[in-house]
Amino acid sequence: MSLERTLTIIKPDAISAGHLGDIIKVFDSHRFKVVAARLVKLSKAEAEGFYAVHRGKPFFESLTHFMSSGPAMVMVLEGESAITRLREVMGATDPAKAASGTIRKFYAESVERNAIHGSDAPETAAFEISYFFPGIELQ
Ligand code: GDP
Repeated sequence: MSLERTLTIIKPDAISAGHLGDIIKVFDSHRFKVVAARLVKLSKAEAEGFYAVHRGKPFFESLTHFMSSGPAMVMVLEGESAITRLREVMGATDPAKAASGTIRKFYAESVERNAIHGSDAPETAAFEISYFFPGIELQ
């Protein structure tokens, strides 16, 4: 086990549905420490930059439109094996396939409007944290 940081986004669907507080409570219950947080309204270009790896996929346009459609909370979470642990707590991309007890099982509306983002690997976490928190101190 090692202390890691990961980037999470509570997506616009979850914010507009009023789930922000409940999702933060889930982070607390799993002992993630919040080391940075910011409420943002992404521009379309910022959403496209964040999801650049998905450019060219059929859902790219719809995804980046959704991600720039309203306020979202970007946060850096820290904890033991935070990257993998957050992915487990989030659940599968498609809520229909998400395990019971996961955030997406509880709060996601669809495969696109799925409540939460979490970095999927150390390299992705480093890119995503610096994308939103360029001045954050290095571990
Ligand atoms: P994640 O790591 O579980 O968030 O999943 P991906 O990196 O594969 O996809 C990024 C985001 O794109 C997902 O969280 C969804 O919001 C969206 N997405 C993924 N697959 C689909 C899809 O098949 N259709 C649509 N409309 N959106 C998708």
